Amino acid sequence: MTEITVTGKCPKLISKEEIRAIVLSTITVMGYHGYYLKRPQEGVEVILGKMNLGKNKITEGNNAGVAWRGLGMFKVDLRKFRNKPGLTTILIHETIHLCANFSGSDEFIVSTLTDRLKESIIEIAEELASNTYKRAAYFAHSKKGMAYHRSEKDDCYNDEQWQNKKTTSGNKKQKGTK
Ligand SMILES: [Zn+2]
Repeated sequence: MTEITVTGKCPKLISKEEIRAIVLSTITVMGYHGYYLKRPQEGVEVILGKMNLGKNKITEGNNAGVAWRGLGMFKVDLRKFRNKPGLTTILIHETIHLCANFSGSDEFIVSTLTDRLKESIIEIAEELASNTYKRAAYFAHSKKGMAYHRSEKDDCYNDEQWQNKKTTSGNKKQKGTK
């Protein structure tokens, strides 16, 4: 799976956990549908800051974000964002660029997919981000000397894995489409 590195100053609007969750959820949704990072085995780098990212060829204004698919990296100019939904949108948009090259109308397709996929992406990201520390504690228990750790000769299966009967509800249930 892809490690997400966030460098630069994290804005007050959003936490680093949320940024990682949104980027990874976007990669997940794209990958589920067959659109992959160029080098999935390597990490993705998100660089945030107040920086000039050059002129946009379409709008002729300054770029708010720029992605390099070959490098698995994108940059965001934080001066362009005053609210969290806007920042969320650029994170999804630039991550989609990392996962696919479309036709000559790349920007129209990427911005349209950003809108259409946002609901699914945010639902996954919300779960990832909101339970970060609960799950981190479970992983901490797996370390040597901690609750989940057994010596090799005492290894066994934990039948608790079968107790919670939670499962998926099928792929026919559609939420509102637009
Ligand atoms: Zn774009």
